[in-house]
Amino acid sequence: MSAGDRSRTTTAPARAAIGIVLSALALALVPTAARAATTFGSPTVESTFGTGITFRQPVTLDAAPARVELLITTGGSGGASVIDVTPPAGGGSIVLEHRLNTTGTEHVLPNTPFTARWRVTSAIGADPALGPPVSTTYVDDRFTWQTVSGPVVRVHWYQGSQVFGERALRIGEDAIAKTATLLGVTEKEPVDFFVYADQQAFYDALGPGTRENVGGQANAEIRTLFALIRPEDIDASWVSIVIPHELVHLVFDAAVKNPYHFPPRWLNEGLAVYLSQGFDAGDRSAVANAAKAGTLVPLTGLGGQFPTSADAFSLAYAESVSAVDFFIRAHGQDALVALIRSYADGRTDDEAFTAAIGQDVSGFDAAWLADLGAAAPQRAGPCPAPAGPLPVGWTAAVASQGTTLCATSGTAAAATQSANGLGGLAVGAFVVAALLLAVGAFAVATRLTRRARDDTAT
Ligand SMILES: [Zn+2]
Repeated sequence: MSAGDRSRTTTAPARAAIGIVLSALALALVPTAARAATTFGSPTVESTFGTGITFRQPVTLDAAPARVELLITTGGSGGASVIDVTPPAGGGSIVLEHRLNTTGTEHVLPNTPFTARWRVTSAIGADPALGPPVSTTYVDDRFTWQTVSGPVVRVHWYQGSQVFGERALRIGEDAIAKTATLLGVTEKEPVDFFVYADQQAFYDALGPGTRENVGGQANAEIRTLFALIRPEDIDASWVSIVIPHELVHLVFDAAVKNPYHFPPRWLNEGLAVYLSQGFDAGDRSAVANAAKAGTLVPLTGLGGQFPTSADAFSLAYAESVSAVDFFIRAHGQDALVALIRSYADGRTDDEAFTAAIGQDVSGFDAAWLADLGAAAPQRAGPCPAPAGPLPVGWTAAVASQGTTLCATSGTAAAATQSANGLGGLAVGAFVVAALLLAVGAFAVATRLTRRARDDTAT
């Protein structure tokens, strides 16, 4: 034992004495209510779809508590959400209650699991008492669901025969197995697949803000797939496309899961289309026509939400599968799988693409456009202000700025040419003459700029 250790050594009687003093101090400092006991009974939860979820907790309290909270965790979420609940005015045997609103913008997807615990703090500064957990799944109770289960998929439907459910199950299981094998993922956790038979019920389930033309939606957080399939459509060819398409998204999500960065949307959608229906004739001609017309959206423009207009929405899917098709032709399926799986390491898009194929995203984008024989799409959106006259020696920087930042407008290029002209004239001239020329060049540039804007406007 070192001298330092000895200096901190306290004898047992001394520790006991200190303990008694501290306990006395604590008793003196903590208000009476802090010592109040909280006894928890069995909590309950009940929900009504589209209305709310009610949590109840019987408790016995010695006195009115200082704080009552409800801790809620839902599927896929890390920590609990804490809801402050108004404490009761007095003690005794009472039932704490909180109703979670699920209407309108508070919409909750069906099949979302909830676990809740009540936390009661008798007085500020006192340790809170935590009640027992209670769990439920928020179900769409408007219908009586039939269920059929396979190794991974559980199909739930409310209209149509057993044959209907079994066909949907077969399509789903095949799609899961095929995609999981391709991406090297083992799917063990069940996937719930809810089949709605009418459009309004389907949109009610998905909630406000659901985009038009959506026929299916996968939610990886709760491993649930929703699809609109009427019983008479179960044999339709599109059904064997929409189910695998959505299930590919679930497997894709499992393959790339990381806390930092999700892959670009075109890669996710492109793979889903490629595996469920292939790069078919309709998508090929849509992409070819857009390439010819110069209306292709670059892949960098398809990294997030797709466009909303019907034509552009459809073209976005066609371009996505085209890019995946090109990727496989140029680099092979193994490289595609390696690319997708590498996102699980939390890589950026450029890091993932460079590691997989030695090209960053813009390099791949350019190669894809070249394969289509398409010119680089013109950049749309706000443009930088036109360049004005600048001192000699700055012209190179201006030229670079004018040609790369706003390719859609002739304005910057015109101004750049003027500025270049200014630079050439100024070299070797007297300072005063140069200044006069600069003023003249600025005026020319301004006129050119105005004409370009007018031309654009008409
Ligand atoms: Zn999709």
